[in-house]
Amino acid sequence: MAQKQELLKASLQQHCRQEADTAALAKFLAATLWHYLVQSPQKHLNISLEGDLGAGKTTFARYLIQAMGYEGKVKSPTYTLCEPYQIELKQQEITIHHFDLYRMRDPLEWQEAGFEEHFDIPGICLIEWPEKAEGTLPAFDLQIQLTAGADENERFININALSQSGASILKEGASK
Ligand code: ADP
Ligand code: MG
Repeated sequence: MAQKQELLKASLQQHCRQEADTAALAKFLAATLWHYLVQSPQKHLNISLEGDLGAGKTTFARYLIQAMGYEGKVKSPTYTLCEPYQIELKQQEITIHHFDLYRMRDPLEWQEAGFEEHFDIPGICLIEWPEKAEGTLPAFDLQIQLTAGADENERFININALSQSGASILKEGASK
């Protein structure tokens, strides 16, 4: 139990003075996620992106998806609610589903849209505005919180582990 609490405390804080710092943090997380999924190919990870409009949730997701090897354009899923991205790992392909739930009218709209199946397959769900689903989403492994700073390009980013998997990802990254 003590060990579990210790693991769940894993977190990372970063002061990003410019967008390039956010990109570097997203790249760092992408590398640890990539490594984790190569070793645990059947795993599914849920990651929340939290913060006000303009905080940088989509920007962070875009750098993360591209750093995981996706070469095409990453657009905001504002209108479609969900955009899928195929990523090549060493031995397999996984899908990153990028959600933006801001425009949902009902907390269960994501289930009615058939998005539930995206949470069971190997890969990652990245979710902006999870609070719009009012606790109806599956549990999260990592929580990414973005806050604006005094300067236009300044952000404070916290990444918190919310599960054992999330904690091992952050610890693995920290040991590199
Ligand atoms: P959200 O998805 O949270 O509403 P976006 O990612 O769409 O926010 O918008 C964030 C905007 O802030 C983008 O135009 C991005 O270029 C800009 N920006 C400036 N500095 C940063 C930074 N340090 N980190 C992330 N985005 C930044
Ligand atoms: Mg967004």
